[in-house]
Amino acid sequence: MSDPVFTIIAPIYNELENLPLLYARVSEVMNQTNEEWELILVDDGSRDGSTDIIRKLAAQDPRVRPVIFARNFGHQIAVTAGMDYSRGQAVVIIDADLQDPPEVILELIKKWREGYQVVYAVRTEREGESWFKLTTASLFYKMIYKITDVKMPLNTGDFRLIDRQALEIINQMRERSRILRGMGAWVGFKQIGVEYKRAARHAGQTHYPLKKMIKLAMNAVTGFSTFPLQMLTTGGVGLVALSLILLVIYLCLAVFSRFDLTYVLAAWLTMIFLAGILLIGMGVLGEYIGRIYEEAKGRPLYIVAEGPDKSLDPTRLDRVKENN
Ligand code: UDP
Ligand code: MG
Repeated sequence: MSDPVFTIIAPIYNELENLPLLYARVSEVMNQTNEEWELILVDDGSRDGSTDIIRKLAAQDPRVRPVIFARNFGHQIAVTAGMDYSRGQAVVIIDADLQDPPEVILELIKKWREGYQVVYAVRTEREGESWFKLTTASLFYKMIYKITDVKMPLNTGDFRLIDRQALEIINQMRERSRILRGMGAWVGFKQIGVEYKRAARHAGQTHYPLKKMIKLAMNAVTGFSTFPLQMLTTGGVGLVALSLILLVIYLCLAVFSRFDLTYVLAAWLTMIFLAGILLIGMGVLGEYIGRIYEEAKGRPLYIVAEGPDKSLDPTRLDRVKENN
């Protein structure tokens, strides 16, 4: 079988009731493209029997390619594995619970054919999610947008199409705390959004309780900015400034007033000053740690969209020989 044009990747964690419909809707949509496609189902350590359904689907249809994890590694890692195994020219990441309607894939593909390398789906409306989930999600995205250096488009999740050229770069980024939507924004290239209405979960419950949302937010902030480290330094400088103001007040009181508050003030002043100095020191340490972290991530220094071919042209050596 030749390499497919499209790869659809769905991470699966206990999605027993959603799998058959996911397969049905994805294949119906993808058959309309009249191109070869594959569906990679990454089983992220399901314990509800999803694994058997995945095996069954794969046995029925060779276009379904299962990747079965030994245990639960988390959503972002599951998608990463799917991207590693993908063979398509364009790769679409979709949630297995049908919150991302497979029909939207056709619109993503349309933009890809127009020449966009990253087409992300933007949620205009969300159905069937609690007030709490909506508010926390919205706060989450706004905060991340403000803080991080790479501008991840608002109201987007992982539902997106990525062209092979951009995918190869993302696949090279092997950092462990992974925020794919951030990495997708980081690589650049021609990007565009397509709006869609996020549906309610077809069956089952969210696997993203508040605890995991917070972890995701922490990963996004620490993975794409050094904001928390800068806060240390800013706080330290603020405290030192405050202690200097107190020093002035202290001196004024000591010289001009007989009012004996000076001892209390002196104690405060010293404490605040020391705390400030310590915070600045921690900020400086943090800056170095931040640099180590940047190096450890080992991201590519630059990404070329168009350039001369760097790979060795097999005829080049022959030409060199001929010339000598
Ligand atoms: N998922 C996964 N591993 C996990 C948690 C979730 O592969 O540890 C998958 C899940 O099966 C679904 C997708 O990630 O296909 C999104 O999860 P969910 O729908 O629970 O998140 P939400 O849409 O509520 O943010
Ligand atoms: Mg969901």
